[in-house]
Amino acid sequence: MPLVDTFGRKINYLRLSVTDRCNYRCLYCMPEDGVIKVCHHDILSYEELLLLARTVVPLGIEKIRVTGGEPLVRSGIIPFLKDLSQIPELKQLVLTTNASLLEGMAAELKNAGVQRLNISLDSLCPENFSDITRGGDLSKVLSGIRRAEEVGFPIKINVVAMRGFNDHEFLDFADLTTNKPYAIRFIEYMPTQRDTAWESRVISGEEILARIADKYCLQPVVRGEMAGPSRDYKIPGALGTVGVITPVSGHFCQDCNRIRVTSQGMVKNCLFSDTEVDLKPYLRAGNVPALQEILKKIVTEKPGNHLISNKETSHQPFSMSKVGG
Ligand code: SAM
Ligand code: SF4
Repeated sequence: MPLVDTFGRKINYLRLSVTDRCNYRCLYCMPEDGVIKVCHHDILSYEELLLLARTVVPLGIEKIRVTGGEPLVRSGIIPFLKDLSQIPELKQLVLTTNASLLEGMAAELKNAGVQRLNISLDSLCPENFSDITRGGDLSKVLSGIRRAEEVGFPIKINVVAMRGFNDHEFLDFADLTTNKPYAIRFIEYMPTQRDTAWESRVISGEEILARIADKYCLQPVVRGEMAGPSRDYKIPGALGTVGVITPVSGHFCQDCNRIRVTSQGMVKNCLFSDTEVDLKPYLRAGNVPALQEILKKIVTEKPGNHLISNKETSHQPFSMSKVGG
C-alpha cells in the first residue's frame, strides 16, 4: 500500500540528511559562526539510517535524496550510499552537494550507485561565490562539476536567487546552458531564518524568467512523468535548460510528494512545519512495526500547504543545513 495523505497526495520521496555539518557557511543557509554542533551520539549512525531506509521503501518510498549539511563531508559516506543503492525496490538514489569535494569523489559516487547529483552553485564569479558561501573556492566546484560530467553524471545545478547578491548573474547562468548540457534551476530564496529583510531578497520565478527572456527566447520543456517542481525552458539551439522553482511565489504544495528526516532522526512532513517526531527511540530499539506506524501517522498529518508566501508566516526560524533543503 503506498503512503497517501489526507489530501490524496502519494508520498514516495524521502529527503534524508546524513549530517548537519558543512564546510561552507552560505549566507542564506546558516549563521556566520555555523550552527551549534550536535553531539555525535545524537546523529543517526549509518546502521540507523539504513534501517530507516529499509523501513520506508516497502511503505512506498521510491526515491531517496541524500543531503545535509554537506553529505560528502561525512566519513564513510560512499559505503553507506552503496548499501542504500542495493535496497530492492528503491527506484532512485540521488544526492545534493555543494560540489566542493566532488572532484575526488565523483567516480566513487557513480560506482556506489548514485544515479543523479544536484549541485548547488549560486555564482559563477569567484569573488561573489566566496562572499555568498563565506569562503568557498569556485575553482574546486567547477573541477568537481567537470569530473562528475566525465564519469557520466547528468548535471543539474541549483541556484538560490537573491536580489542584490546574484541577480546580476542570471544571464551568465543562462549563457552557460547554450554550450553545456546542464539543467540550471533558479530557486526562490526562502525565509528559513525569518530575517527581517527576506521579502526584499526574494526574486520571483516570473521575474527571473522575464530577465532571461530580455535576451533569449525561452521555449517551455514538456514535463516528464517524474518531473519535480521545476518549470523548465530551453533557449533555441541550447544544449541545456533553465528553469525556476517557486516555493514562495507559487507554491506547489498540491503536488508535494515528500517527507524529510534530519540527521538527528527527526521526521518532518513539511519543510515549514514546526512539528517534528523523533524516530531515534524506534530506530535504536530496532522497533520496525512502531517505526512504520509513526511514519504512516506523520504522512496522514501532512499539512495541505505551507504559509511562507503569506504575511502570517509563523514558523520557528531554522537553518536549512539542519533539515537538508
Ligand atoms: N550542502 C548541500 C548543498 O548545498 O547542496 C546540501 C544541503 S543544502 C541545505 C540543500 C539545498 O538547500 C541547497 O541547494 C541550498 O542552496 C538550499 N537552500 C538552503 N537555504 C535555502 C534558502 N533559505 N532558500 C532556498 N534554498 C535554500
Ligand atoms: Fe552548506 Fe549547503 Fe547550507 Fe551552503 S547550502 S551552508 S553548502 S549546507
